[in-house]
Formats: sequence, C-alpha cells, structure tokens
Amino acid sequence: MWQPYTQMKTADPPLPVVRTDGTRITLADGRELIDGVASWWTACHGYNHPHIRDAVERQLGLMPHVMFGGLTHEPAAVLASRLANLLPAGLDKVFFSDSGSVAVEVALKMAVQYWLNRGIRKRHKFIAFKGAYHGDTIGTMAICDPDEGMHRMFAGLLPVQHIIDLPRDENTTAAFEQFLQRHADEVAAIIIEPLVQGAGGMLFHSPDVMRRLRAAADRYGLLLICDEIFTGFGRTGVMFACETAAVVPDIMVLSKALTGGTMALAATIARREIFDAFQSDDPQHALMHGPTYMANPLACAAANASLDLFAREPRLAQVAAISKCLAAGLAECRNLPRVKDVRVMGAIGVVELERIDDMQALKRRLIASGVWLRPFNNIIYLTPAFTMGEDDLLALISAIKSVLTP
Ligand SMILES: *Cc1c(COP(=O)(O)O)cnc(C)c1O
Repeated sequence: MWQPYTQMKTADPPLPVVRTDGTRITLADGRELIDGVASWWTACHGYNHPHIRDAVERQLGLMPHVMFGGLTHEPAAVLASRLANLLPAGLDKVFFSDSGSVAVEVALKMAVQYWLNRGIRKRHKFIAFKGAYHGDTIGTMAICDPDEGMHRMFAGLLPVQHIIDLPRDENTTAAFEQFLQRHADEVAAIIIEPLVQGAGGMLFHSPDVMRRLRAAADRYGLLLICDEIFTGFGRTGVMFACETAAVVPDIMVLSKALTGGTMALAATIARREIFDAFQSDDPQHALMHGPTYMANPLACAAANASLDLFAREPRLAQVAAISKCLAAGLAECRNLPRVKDVRVMGAIGVVELERIDDMQALKRRLIASGVWLRPFNNIIYLTPAFTMGEDDLLALISAIKSVLTP
C-alpha cells in the first residue's frame, strides 16, 4: 500500500488498528491510544456511536446504494432538507458528492458556470488566500497556499489562480481592495475557510475578515464560497463558522464531520439565486457533474443520524467545555522552549513551534505516551471528539507538554 503524504522509504510503517471505540484506537498488539485528532476531524461524536451504527445497519438491510442519476431516495431527501434548515437562510440547494476535494471542485464549477449561464464569459478565475487548503485534486490544489498546493512542482499542470493575503489589517485590506480594482472582472468567486485555515497550519482570523470578504464580494458582484469542510458542525464553537461573522456565503462546502466520521460524503450547497441561473431550456446550462457514488444511502443515513445527535445531545456545550479545558491546559506550553504561539478556538487547540526538527522522533514519543496526534509543519494540534471527557483531554495535553519539555 502507498500511504498518504508519506515518504515510503524513510517513514515508520503505519500502525495496524483493529478497533475503535469512543475516543480510543486499539492497535493490533493490544495497545490503546487516546485519539486527539478524531480521524482527520471527522469523528465528532467519538467512534462507533451506537445511534449512527444502528442507522447504517438499518439502511444496509434496505439499500446500500443506488445510482442518483434519474433516481432519488429518502435518506438523501431528508438530509438535504435538514441541511437547508440548519444552514443560514438562503442556502438550500444541495449537491451531494463523496469527498471534500470533489465538493470544492463542484463549487468551483458552479461558480464559473453561474457566470457562463448568464452570458458572462470572462469570469473564470478564483481568489484564494495564503495559508488556504481546499483539497488535493488538481483544481483545488490551484487554490491552496502555493506551498501546500505544491504550485511550483506542478507548474504547467495547475491553472493559475490569484492567491493573496487575507485582508486582516489596514495594509492587507488596502492591498486586497487594489487587487479587486484591477482583477475583479475576471474573477468568478472568492473562496475562504471561515475563521480557521486548517490543513494550511491551523491559522485563525477574525470575523472581521469574513465581513470584509462578504462586503467586497457584494461590491464587485463576486460570489463568496465558504469551505466549511473543517470548520462546519461545531468545530469552532458554533454550528458553522460563518455564523460567528453573521456572513452568508453564496456557496457552502461541507464534508469531514458530515457523517460523524463514519462514511465518505460531502455536500456543496448553493443559494437559490445560484441554482436559478442553471434553470434554462438549454441543456448546456445544466450542472455538469455527477459522482458515481453521489448521495450514497448508507452515508446519508449516517449523516442523518449524526444530525440527530447534534439535535439531541449537548454538542455545542461540550465544545465550549473542551475549549475552556484546552485554553487552560495548553496555556502553560507558552513557557516551554521553542513554543512560538498557543491558540484555541472551539474544540481546536494549537501549539505552534519555531520548528519541528525531528518529526519522526516526535511522533514516536507521542505514541509511546499513549496518544494519537498528527503534528505537521511546525504545529502540534488537538481536534478531539466533542464527547471526549476531561481525563482524556488532560492526558492529551500532558503528552504534548512532556514531548516539549527538554
Ligand atoms: C479536508 C479538507 C478538504 C478536502 O477534503 P477531502 O475529503 O480530503 O478531499 C477541503 N477543504 C478543507 C477545508 C479541508 O479541511
């Protein structure tokens, strides 16, 4: 097997896992690790939640899959209407796919075709931001931070997009404004991960940035796409990060925690005005996309069960408690050598170092202390399940402290 993001020649072999339960990963040799990552931010209710498991088992007996072209089914219809009810007003046309990257690709195609269908041919570029991560496919790599998207290595393959500084302060806001004056008429949309740029380094920005982007998009007639694949479903402390800024995007992208960490599923949700631009007597004006496993019924059943849990159980209160615990516990890391910054938002805790010299050794020490974390670049971070209790959180925090203490 070929492991992700891994130099296969030098990396330690992956750890064989035989079972997951709650916040625990059980390895083949019997060791148990406390999971501080929730499987790349997906398993927000902990692993093997019985309510999701039951829903998937029931659906498995009825219909594991059926094609979505020309057919539809209740799990998808129910999920679409629940998402539309949950999301800020106006976002109510749901297109399902099977991974975050593909859902972002769909958002990009929607945005470009929105303009084409209205007879405007030159708006085919995107504005994205330094620090951004939007996926690993070709189209999404081109809107990642140039290092994250490996723009240099793949120059010639990637379409050239506009990757600029977030308008955070007076200077960057002025530069953003100048940029728009010159280039807005060739731009289809601005795309942003609201409040937290995740895989690009767990970088936070203020709700003001989001308000500036919305205002600029309105002023220049651009679409605003919020990639909430990481931030959606409570991770930042509210259900969707754009709510904190009271900003409603034109297109929203969801995945990761959508099924509570059980199945691959993603959704691209558009405002009705976007959808309406595809209504036409011209078949060419239809949205030209359709993944084979689109709206997989098992995945939709899992997502519906996950939404039940958000409705029934006090998830956002749990996130607030986790946030407090992370802020208090990680604060002491500030005094440890080589720590550059400590930051917490919702159920995201980040310790940023000047650099990590020996990543492999660091990972081995974390595993030896009984925790599963996945530090990258120069950060060690926690994104636990929202159901994690204080004991496990404190164990994760103390593992981080111990690996940073000389
Ligand atoms: C993970 C992620 C993606 C890509 O999702 P995949 O399912 O891995 O393709 C896109 N955008 C953001 C913000 C993400 O965190």
